[in-house]
Parts: sequence; structure tokens; C-alpha cells
Amino acid sequence: MALREVSVPVRPGMIIYRGNPGVEIERALSIDGGDGANVSRLAMGVHTGTHIDGSLHFYDDGEGVDALPLDAMLGRCEVVEIADPGDAIGPAALEAAAIPAGAERVLLKTPNSRLWELGEFTHDFVRLDGAGAAWVRERGIRLIGIDYLSIGDHDAHLDLLGNGIVALEGLDLRGIDPGRYELVCLPIRLVGTDGAPARVLLRDLEEGG
Ligand SMILES: [Zn+2]
Repeated sequence: MALREVSVPVRPGMIIYRGNPGVEIERALSIDGGDGANVSRLAMGVHTGTHIDGSLHFYDDGEGVDALPLDAMLGRCEVVEIADPGDAIGPAALEAAAIPAGAERVLLKTPNSRLWELGEFTHDFVRLDGAGAAWVRERGIRLIGIDYLSIGDHDAHLDLLGNGIVALEGLDLRGIDPGRYELVCLPIRLVGTDGAPARVLLRDLEEGG
């Protein structure tokens, strides 16, 4: 069964949401400098690359990412393509995407994916609007992912994060065909933070699975 990586590489100079901290990696100890081992220090924002949001991201009294249930991030997952979303992804685009009833985990493959090929961040991406987020919530979806650095506008974030829905941002779905997969999304176990980087894989399901 093929395993497909859909998280983006974390490195200095990578695409970062405008205004967020960049990635810095430097040697704190080095064999070259007489130390017994090489040890690097990492500094970066918690919304770097592929990551999940905690409700604390948009609510001052919200919870950190470690409060989110891991079982929402592991298991059967639908990748749906929204090839022509217009200005924002609302209920009409989601209806047209033919998301199967009862789907708990949904990844939105949009024209955003090509933006990873640019040299820098752009605001020219699509995301959910408030009505789209309400549609996601009403359908009982527990995890919603997208292929750039924001799942939705302010209203969409408030609705999703305020209702315990996992927002998975910064996916690279360029090589992924729409369909059903097994999702493996494991955010770093940061305590009480508003976001956490995640390693995310899609595994092909067994025939008939
Ligand atoms: Zn985020």
C-alpha cells in the first residue's frame, strides 16, 4: 500500500504566512567546534508549513492544540477536488464536490496547490467563507484540510475552531488524486499552543476498503 507524503518540507526560506515568524535552524553544539555531537536549535512559528490550529488561535480563552482529539486526525479520509471555487469556498462549491455523506475527514484539493511552486507567500489563494465552514460543521465533518496556509476567513475560523473541528492547513495535494484514503496526521505534542506543525501522510486503502 502506497504511503504518500502531503506535508511540506520545513526549512529556512520556506513559504510562511505573511507576518508569521520564519524558520531558523542553527547549530547550538557542533563536532566541528569541539563538542561531542551536533545539536541544532530550531525557532519557528507554530503555524509553519503543514499544521493544525487550536481554538486558542482565534479565541483568547480557547484551548491549545493538545486538547484536540487524535482520533479525528487518523482514519478514513476523503480528498475532494474543488477545481473552480470562485472567490471563496462556500456551500455551493462544497455541494458540487460530492463529499460522501458521513465523511469525518475531508481534504480540499484546490487550485491553491500550485502556489507552492511560487518563491514566496501570496494572498491569492482560496479558502472557506463563513457559510462554507457552517456547512462543514452541519455535515458533522471532524477534520477539514486545505492545500495552502489558511483554512478559511475570520468567520470560518471562528466557526470551525469554536466547535472543536480540526483545521489542517498547509497541505500539498499536488500529487494526490481525489478519492478515499487513510489519513495519518500527527501534530507535535506541544502543550497549550495555538497551533502545531504536523507530519501528514495518506495511505491507499485496501481494495474494497
Ligand atoms: Zn494555522
